[in-house]
Amino acid sequence: MPGDLRLWVKRDDLTGLGLGGNKARKLEFLCGAAVAEGAHSLITVGASQSNHCRMTAAAGAMLGLEVHLVLSGDRPETPSGNQLLSTLFGAQLHFTGAEESHWGELEIAREALAEELTAAGAGPYSIPIGGSTAVGAVGYAVAFAELMEQCHELGVRPAAIVHASSSGGTHAGLVAGRALWRSRGHEVPEVLAIGVAQGVNMGRPDVAELARDVVELAGADRAIVERADVRVDPDWMGEDYGVPTRSGDAAIRWAARHGGWVLDRTYSGKGFAGLVGNAERARWPEGSDVVFIHTGGQPALFAPGGAPGLARRGQ
Ligand SMILES: *Cc1c(COP(=O)(O)O)cnc(C)c1O
Repeated sequence: MPGDLRLWVKRDDLTGLGLGGNKARKLEFLCGAAVAEGAHSLITVGASQSNHCRMTAAAGAMLGLEVHLVLSGDRPETPSGNQLLSTLFGAQLHFTGAEESHWGELEIAREALAEELTAAGAGPYSIPIGGSTAVGAVGYAVAFAELMEQCHELGVRPAAIVHASSSGGTHAGLVAGRALWRSRGHEVPEVLAIGVAQGVNMGRPDVAELARDVVELAGADRAIVERADVRVDPDWMGEDYGVPTRSGDAAIRWAARHGGWVLDRTYSGKGFAGLVGNAERARWPEGSDVVFIHTGGQPALFAPGGAPGLARRGQ
């Protein structure tokens, strides 16, 4: 690792729900709300290889709720990667024909479907893109405390927690959890989000506002979220959401060949490239402990174009 960093990986790719990933932590609370409301079905939305949609499909299967997924792109002849799994979990896939990162179009389609299903008596609980509401983000406020307790047990005091960010719920939850932890008099690491998509949380509260909503939900009025607590590094996204980058692919190979852990090209690969890049730029003091939250994304490797080209060892 550049800067002699000591790297720690929080394996949220192993959360277990429908092959795992960060959305399990949000869905725990979102599905809790759906069940409490007496919903009969779940609707959500995402890019064609959405991990969030795949995990919502798995959650619905466990809870006996019908699941409808609104996806970008067109129905492929043969589903692969996350679509294959969503289909296996019994979800209905609705293809909008929308471009991969036209988030606004997808959200409009989700709302239209929610109205349709409500009128048909299907009692849907409708979840915005990435599950990034305050209720969903609570999962990552809890995760922050879990992580700090694990660090404490290991005697590790990290300088930073780094993760890939798109719809902002993971980031907002971590920022809220950090504010709560700080309000109890603890020292807190920097939370650095590596941006992998533009404009996903369009029309919804930004990360600081979302984090404040989470703090309010937790009833912790002593915890204060400052604007400066929200740090997004957009330098590792490349051209756009879902467009692979050289640094992301290099990060995927490095992780695979040093730790035997698997990153994806859309999220965790770019996120980890951001961690390495910031280490090279000496963002943290030499020898610091830094935690990477591995948010998952592996099923996308098995979709067309999902894996980096095979390179010789050492590349
Ligand atoms: C959704 C997702 C993210 C980003 O999480 P947000 O809360 O939407 O910002 C990161 N990594 C993976 C693998 C994801 O599926």
